[in-house]
Amino acid sequence: MENTYRQIYRKQHYGMVGKHSAVKVCHWTKSELTGGDGCYKHLFYGIRSHQCIQMTPAVNSCTENCSFCWRFQGFDSMHISDEDDPEFILEKSIEAHKKLLSGFKGNPKVTRERWEESQNPRHIAISLTGEPTVYSRLGEFIELAGRRGFTTFLVTNGTLPMVLEKLDPLPTQLYLTVAGPTKKVFNEVLNPAIGNAWENFNRTLDLLPSLNTRKVIRHTLVKDVNMPFIDEYAEMDRRADPHFIESKGYVHVGQSMERLSASNMPPHQMVVDFSKELGKRLGYEFTAESPASRVTLLCKDPGMRMINLSNPVRLISGANS
Ligand code: SF4
Repeated sequence: MENTYRQIYRKQHYGMVGKHSAVKVCHWTKSELTGGDGCYKHLFYGIRSHQCIQMTPAVNSCTENCSFCWRFQGFDSMHISDEDDPEFILEKSIEAHKKLLSGFKGNPKVTRERWEESQNPRHIAISLTGEPTVYSRLGEFIELAGRRGFTTFLVTNGTLPMVLEKLDPLPTQLYLTVAGPTKKVFNEVLNPAIGNAWENFNRTLDLLPSLNTRKVIRHTLVKDVNMPFIDEYAEMDRRADPHFIESKGYVHVGQSMERLSASNMPPHQMVVDFSKELGKRLGYEFTAESPASRVTLLCKDPGMRMINLSNPVRLISGANS
């Protein structure tokens, strides 16, 4: 990775790990650590934000350049040519995360108990930036994390179905971003950097039912751009048959401000209305919402919501066993 990119990431408080990975302490991790709220995934699935590591094994590689992405998009490749070992990435990510948190030790808002818990992270969100499926040893990384007692959430844009088909083990929860309801909108909003991105993404939709883990479709909704398109999204969701559907309003922050305007942010109520209408069509239950993050949750089976933290890898009975 070019040094100029490294400097930009450091300025933005990323902890750089090896040649192509990075961690960043999320706003909600700091909030929960200092006695505030956790992120919406705490509310939806029971993830404890102050014990969460947000990282990516592909900081500088992505197959898309999404208009709503608020991260720095200096992607200089769609491949990682010289890959670090997964053991190294895991160890150094934990180390870098703890180092980034070290300034909170002694903070009067941080209780001793919270501090100690934060030093024993339990969850890894593989989602910071870039497309993680570009890292060819992602399965080994997820397996090592599971052995160490971590739950793992993996967010993918679905343009590399050939990787997802072979991913073993699967993460605790797999997120597929679905933000292009038609080929035209897909190409405009997600701005793919590879050929066949739409066709590959559609392969991933059809692959999802066969993947034996918890699955989430996330609709990132940009007002006047990719919403409502309810019929198109409903058709895609039916094919993918996920356990959960998150509808999340675009937030006008970071680098996305150069591509979209504040008027593209749907108000929370618009996201709620979209979600309820989608739920009606699919027979999913509207189960939770977080106005602070402009996000809602639809569940096929609300009983499955909370993550089983004592069994991070095998969550669905009989899964891959
Ligand atoms: S799950 Fe995501 S939003 Fe929640 S604390 Fe972890 S990185 Fe932050």
